[in-house]
Amino acid sequence: MPKQVDYLIIGQGLAGSLLSWELMQRGCSIHLLDNQQENASQIAAGLINPVTGMRLVKNNQIDTLLPCAKQSYQVLSQFFQKDFYIAKSMLRIVRNEKEQLSYQQRRQDPNYLKYLEPELKQAPKSIHAPLGLIQQKQTGYLLTHKLLSCLKNYFQEQQSYQACQFNYQDLQLNNTVTWQGITAKKIIFCEGYQAIYNPWFNYLPFQLAKGEILTMSSEHILIPEILNYGHWLIPLDTHHFRTGASFDNAILNTQATTQAKQQLLATLTHTYPSLHSAAVDKQQANIRPTTLDKAPFIGLHPNYKNVAIFNGFGAKGSLQIPYYSQHFVQHLLKQTPLEDQVNCLRYRQHKHTLNYVIKPQ
Ligand SMILES: Cc1cc2nc3c(=O)[nH]c(=O)nc-3n(C[C@H](O)[C@H](O)[C@H](O)COP(=O)(O)OP(=O)(O)OC[C@H]3O[C@@H](n4cnc5c(N)ncnc54)[C@H](O)[C@@H]3O)c2cc1C
Repeated sequence: MPKQVDYLIIGQGLAGSLLSWELMQRGCSIHLLDNQQENASQIAAGLINPVTGMRLVKNNQIDTLLPCAKQSYQVLSQFFQKDFYIAKSMLRIVRNEKEQLSYQQRRQDPNYLKYLEPELKQAPKSIHAPLGLIQQKQTGYLLTHKLLSCLKNYFQEQQSYQACQFNYQDLQLNNTVTWQGITAKKIIFCEGYQAIYNPWFNYLPFQLAKGEILTMSSEHILIPEILNYGHWLIPLDTHHFRTGASFDNAILNTQATTQAKQQLLATLTHTYPSLHSAAVDKQQANIRPTTLDKAPFIGLHPNYKNVAIFNGFGAKGSLQIPYYSQHFVQHLLKQTPLEDQVNCLRYRQHKHTLNYVIKPQ
């Protein structure tokens, strides 16, 4: 059936979903395609953590990104009458003296007051943390799988969703774009890691990273907070939790491995010995769309003004995507300039030497 829409969107991960939602909220029509492969968003832990790394560095945009993310998830919660963002404090194990020193500095810094409790907490008996625990605030996690299911149903009800593989050679580019009888003003690619196959954007320097995550259950009653010990544990309820995630930028596929499972279980039981008999209910693997300079790729193609990308949210999709969907929509509808550090035009179009191989499934 011939159809005319404002935007043809490729990919219903968190990026394509929130961008489509944002466009529809502003009265635009969309047609969203997804090949229904399990994606990074569906398996992600959805963790939002403003202060990270051994040096306990605050994300320099957190004061913009976090309020926007919370507000967006709140609006979606009200709309669907379901909770998506779970605010939960995080206990971070002090792993060495360097980290202890960083904490001593940060706790006196007024910029960190909102994010770190000023006193270390003593570890409960069940947790191995001889140097104590840092209590982090403003942390939590997004129930991404649940949110994407609700949004998919919504797009289907609006007759704006199609389950299928988009093949690049089927696209006709003129002043508009046409794909299988659907004409749109622009096409926006939100393909996650699969963007490396995209003939218009494969010159962008993605530095993909595979991640694996375990969903587990335990007879032992879990601590209520998120626990961070290099890896993390997110309690879903008193007896169920998720732990992860591994990080591998050498072998890139979506297959779960025994090696990653053993590594995750070893760090878990070292930190939290009473979970040694916890059962692994599920193991999932996928690929994060991480980039060379750790910033997203957003904007119009340098030569084709009706071809655009919204991608590269790496390991921080839940924090970054709400703000950048609004930012990109403002750019598309009101021509407000894109921030330089996320604009895909910061890279010129030539083929980078990519040092990764996607292994066949
Ligand atoms: C193990 C793991 C743990 C993670 N933990 C966190 C975390 O705690 N916090 C956090 O913020 N982020 C986390 N992430 C990262 C997070 O998943 C990403 O930042 C985010 O989900 C990226 O969303 P996306 O929509 O860009 O990509 P994706 O979720 O991969 O979605 C892309 C979609 O496009 C579809 N698609 C691609 N090409 C085509 C085509 N040609 N035709 C049709 N459909 C197509 C794909 O099938 C997919 O559905 C984690 C990732 C992994 C792998």
